[in-house]
Amino acid sequence: MLAYGGGRLDRAGALRTDPTRLNALLDEPGTVVLPLWRDRCLVDGDGPVRLTAERAALVRSAAGETVFLGFDGDVAVFAVDLSALDERPAVEMAGAAKSVDVRALVGRLDADGAAVQAYARGLLHWHRQQRFCGVCGAPAVTGGGGHVRTCTGAECGRLLFPRIEPAIIVLVEAPGPPGRCLLARHVGAAEDAFSTLAGFVEVGESLEDAVRREMAEEAGITVTDVTYQGSQAWPFPAGLMVGFRATATSDEVRVDGEELLEARWFTRADLRDRLASGRTLGRVDAIDHRLLHDWLSGN
Ligand SMILES: [Zn+2]
Repeated sequence: MLAYGGGRLDRAGALRTDPTRLNALLDEPGTVVLPLWRDRCLVDGDGPVRLTAERAALVRSAAGETVFLGFDGDVAVFAVDLSALDERPAVEMAGAAKSVDVRALVGRLDADGAAVQAYARGLLHWHRQQRFCGVCGAPAVTGGGGHVRTCTGAECGRLLFPRIEPAIIVLVEAPGPPGRCLLARHVGAAEDAFSTLAGFVEVGESLEDAVRREMAEEAGITVTDVTYQGSQAWPFPAGLMVGFRATATSDEVRVDGEELLEARWFTRADLRDRLASGRTLGRVDAIDHRLLHDWLSGN
């Protein structure tokens, strides 16, 4: 299971159109309210803080959006945004010790805990970015349990939904033996930091189109056999990472010099050497880590 997805939360989408029920749930003593501050979790010594009903009511009266995330078993889960406050007052109001990025908590949070924090982070981020209608410029107000905003312009009234920006991430294999995969050093990366190739999907492209275009643009290679490997929720702030494997038609690589400084073929022995020297293959919480380890194990 990849980090940030697959949480056990039932999103209970049908309830989003029932504000009376959602308000009643917010007043129930067992309800969980997760406070966030500017994309960061608010934590104490035990991990992300869960507000008690009393404190949640206090926080909601002073804070920004409250969004309904779903049900964890019988327990309703909401998130509340304290971004309007400075950090110290936000931390204190939540009864937390400090703020931490969810990505820094991977390994300490269980999979469900990471998934719900990432979900809350992405949804609250969108509210802060979608305060106005992009068509008429009027303010937009929240609704649907925090899953839609509505333009208040009298002539407009457009519904605005959370945006997701898909990106492809690709493990490219060499055309012939020995088995090799292509890793690249990105502009700004450390001297020996090699990673898989990736890029955003453009308007009017399929995911496979985006793989072929990005590999041609960034590394000067033509790829075939573009095969889906899996996807990962990546709400940092609004991504969806879609993993592929593809095969180059030639060993010849020509980097663009703008996004990539260098791209090289690595054998499985090369990757094992990198692991043996204490480096990781990709970021441990990200799909490229899995793409590389799947390939390394011969799958
Ligand atoms: Zn509008």
